[in-house]
Amino acid sequence: MSRHPVVCIPGDGIGPEVTDAVTRVLEAAGAPLDWEEHLAGIRALEDCGEVLPEATLDAIRNRKLALKGPCTTPVGEGFSSVNVLLRRRLDLYAAVRPVRNLRGVETRFAGVDLVIIRENTEGLYSGVENEITDGVVTSTKVATRRGCTRIARWAFAYARRRERRRVTVLHKANIMKLTDGMFLRCAREVHAADFADIAYDEMIIDAGCMKLVQQPERFDMLLLENLYGDVVSDLCAGLVGGLGVVPGANFGEQHAIFEAVHGSAPDIAGKDIANPLALLMSAVMLLKHIADSRGCELSRAAAVRIKRAYDGCLENNEKTRDLGGTLGTRAFAEAVVARLAD
Ligand code: NAD
Repeated sequence: MSRHPVVCIPGDGIGPEVTDAVTRVLEAAGAPLDWEEHLAGIRALEDCGEVLPEATLDAIRNRKLALKGPCTTPVGEGFSSVNVLLRRRLDLYAAVRPVRNLRGVETRFAGVDLVIIRENTEGLYSGVENEITDGVVTSTKVATRRGCTRIARWAFAYARRRERRRVTVLHKANIMKLTDGMFLRCAREVHAADFADIAYDEMIIDAGCMKLVQQPERFDMLLLENLYGDVVSDLCAGLVGGLGVVPGANFGEQHAIFEAVHGSAPDIAGKDIANPLALLMSAVMLLKHIADSRGCELSRAAAVRIKRAYDGCLENNEKTRDLGGTLGTRAFAEAVVARLAD
């Protein structure tokens, strides 16, 4: 029986609470994973003097896979984002966020089933900011042909593998003709060259956002550059019940980090009320990735068991407060564990 070493980064704020809850469920479900805990974020800064210790990066390079809690980034000052650093240092260029209605989670919308693919390494996240003179600052948006082409190729390949029907690029190429123009042109070229069997269209992002909150069920896959992908991920989370129910993964050619879309939620940290479901769903994505890429059926079975268990919880109103329930973080994890045998 083969087991899979996976780096676990608890992160900041609600991170340690939700990672504890998730590892408890994974263990109870018999997931064949061996955790190797490493630090990143504020705790790493306190313990090791840097937000992203080289030992954490090396561990992910060696183990190839990580499950990560959210890390805090100070607003408007202080250190750079650990999340952006991790994605850039490991070249995790493709973020995948499946956004779906869940039975038992009531929302304004029905039939939402879309996948967001976000470019993770370029755009305005390149960190090229300058003070030109007192009172004048600039931020440089970066788009490279290589970066735009590889994310388009990744998105269309995902669409084919997962039998999705359409890829829609949301852009602002009417204003940012060079950068967003490059993103669009590369998507068109990749589509025409190798993926003409998959439907493809484009929308200017402002009109696209209106359409998303009017008829989200009309979208299938969204392909976006970095900042748009960040913003639209939270918007789409709001369509299906909030940040507590949207998982994610960041893929490069060699490594992958699985993490929820939500942040470290300092407003509710330490209160045992955070919803661990988004990270649990990310862990299910991790198990399915191991099953698909390494042919591990034990991982697939654990993924199926966990999904069935949390679906059962939601349908029976065993939910955390953000979803209208009454359970705390730990109690929700125990409710999922209790249903693993169902
Ligand atoms: P946030 O996602 O942490 O919180 C937004 C709102 O959603 C808050 O009201 C919070 O209580 C709620 N929320 C988030 N996750 C929840 C959960 N699991 N259960 C219940 N409610 C939940 O966003 P923010 O407040 O804008 O950011 C806080 C910090 O997180 C910032 O430092 C930011 O940089 C960081 N952040 C990190 C990541 C990451 O590590 N990948 C992602 C986004 C934000």
